[in-house]
Amino acid sequence: IAEAETVTEVVRLHAINTPDTAAFTFEDQEITFAELDAGSNRAAQGLMSLGVQRGDRIAYLGKNHPLYFEILIGAAKIGAVMTPVNWRLAAPEVAYILDNCGAQVAFVGAGFAEMMEKARPDAPRLSHVIGLEATGETATDYCEWRDSFPADNPGVHLGAGDDLLQLYTSGTTGRPKGAVMTHGSILSSRDSTGRDGGLRPWQEPVEGDVTLLAMPCFHISGTGTGIGTMVAGTNAIVLPEYDPTQALDLIENYNISKIFLVPAAIQIMLNHPRVAEVDFSRLKFITYGASPIPLELMKAAMERFGCGFVQMYGMTETSGTIVALDPEDHRPEGSPKMRSVGTPLQGVEIKIIDDDGNTVAANTVGEIATRSSKNMSRYWNNPDATASTIDPEGWLRTGDAGYLDEDGYLYIHDRVKDMIISGGENIYPAEVENAVYSHPKVADVAVIGVPDEKWGEAVKACVVVKDGEEVTEPEIIAHCREHIAGYKCPKSIDFIEALPRNPSGKVLRRELRAPYWEGKERAVN
Ligand code: ATP
Ligand code: MG
Repeated sequence: IAEAETVTEVVRLHAINTPDTAAFTFEDQEITFAELDAGSNRAAQGLMSLGVQRGDRIAYLGKNHPLYFEILIGAAKIGAVMTPVNWRLAAPEVAYILDNCGAQVAFVGAGFAEMMEKARPDAPRLSHVIGLEATGETATDYCEWRDSFPADNPGVHLGAGDDLLQLYTSGTTGRPKGAVMTHGSILSSRDSTGRDGGLRPWQEPVEGDVTLLAMPCFHISGTGTGIGTMVAGTNAIVLPEYDPTQALDLIENYNISKIFLVPAAIQIMLNHPRVAEVDFSRLKFITYGASPIPLELMKAAMERFGCGFVQMYGMTETSGTIVALDPEDHRPEGSPKMRSVGTPLQGVEIKIIDDDGNTVAANTVGEIATRSSKNMSRYWNNPDATASTIDPEGWLRTGDAGYLDEDGYLYIHDRVKDMIISGGENIYPAEVENAVYSHPKVADVAVIGVPDEKWGEAVKACVVVKDGEEVTEPEIIAHCREHIAGYKCPKSIDFIEALPRNPSGKVLRRELRAPYWEGKERAVN
């Protein structure tokens, strides 16, 4: 397995070595590695019969399901590339991705046949739609279809450089872009075989580990988790979508040892009435990331769950995690490093650059750039975006602002595009948000820049107040003044019901900003 160059080869080897081990569990049914391998061979044969070739894209629109991974592996066996589509999108957005990736064949999960039909007229290259669960709406039923083909491996020779996966970015800063990941970039990212050495203890594959796959597969966190457990040869318990009640039940019933959750999902779990009764003693690690975590939430989670916590920083374009904060740097009493996202994983280079692309000194904020074998190969059909993101030496600009401290720990300071320039000073929303959030009556907050005649931009906080509490604008501003410099403090507060978030729990600051900037141009953009 240590020598395997492709994810498909790793799965084939697990099917030989541990055929009866569960690869996935869904609604109490297990799919073993032998079944996964055979099913994906049939799917590969089926896709070939539909004319799908090496380099072609196929799409999946649906909630998390083990068959999604079977199809992904099946497609990969003939060199075709899975593109999962965010099922929370509206029909025109789904159509945009289907058309952009150019899939001829799409698979739909239960409940999404109608959405697919709505999107289909705008994705003219799509010729076949196959339903995962018989609904009557789709003509072809996946399991029947797949079982009509032989379980022989199609025998297409593939290598580390072949495309495996095309994931669209979350669309936090604009239209989603299709990031193309190869077998090599994915294997390097989920490498449990230790081929590069230098694995951290929480990365080591442990026989008998059970992972809860609770985050969506249209996001790198979900697909990455599933591919990670396939590569490790361990069982992933698949939740169709995140639900705290079900997640707590599964943690108990399956002795879950690892979970990845976004901070918003941790918050929801902590607020669940059952959280106090659940036995978390088998849980070894909660890994979390994708958006900043408020320090208060982090401390509350550590106290309640009592397991190791690992923060992850990464993006779709880097096949997931590139920097991580180890459990040892998480301490309930607070650790100086707890505000950082940690240190680069084995083989990952990080540098901080200024506007001209020059590397800046330690503790100086700039744009984070990274280089490693985990980087995507390119954006799909978008050479301009690829060229402005990856330079000829392989450095990828993350679009995130941050700094490295003298020990090499990375601190994230938000998106470059969310930075507020007020009176010539750069202000990072996350820092202001932490100050506002530490007010005991604040439930949620996002900080944005709004136009200001004198200062260019002024800091505004959009605040959600805790149920049953009352707090005023001057009270919050006064509270901030105790924690951060005066020029960083909000000049005004909007009280709102809830923050707009995308499915990964990321706050859509551009939506909050939009009404204030109509017809005006922001300096940072
Ligand atoms: P788009 O690129 O379409 O605007 P997106 O950047 O939100 O969307 P993703 O690739 O899913 O799409 O998210 C990656 C981004 O998430 C990173 O660039 C960073 O801004 C943020 N992020 C990831 N991990 C962390 C973390 N641990 N702390 C803070 N922010 C994080
Ligand atoms: Mg991005």
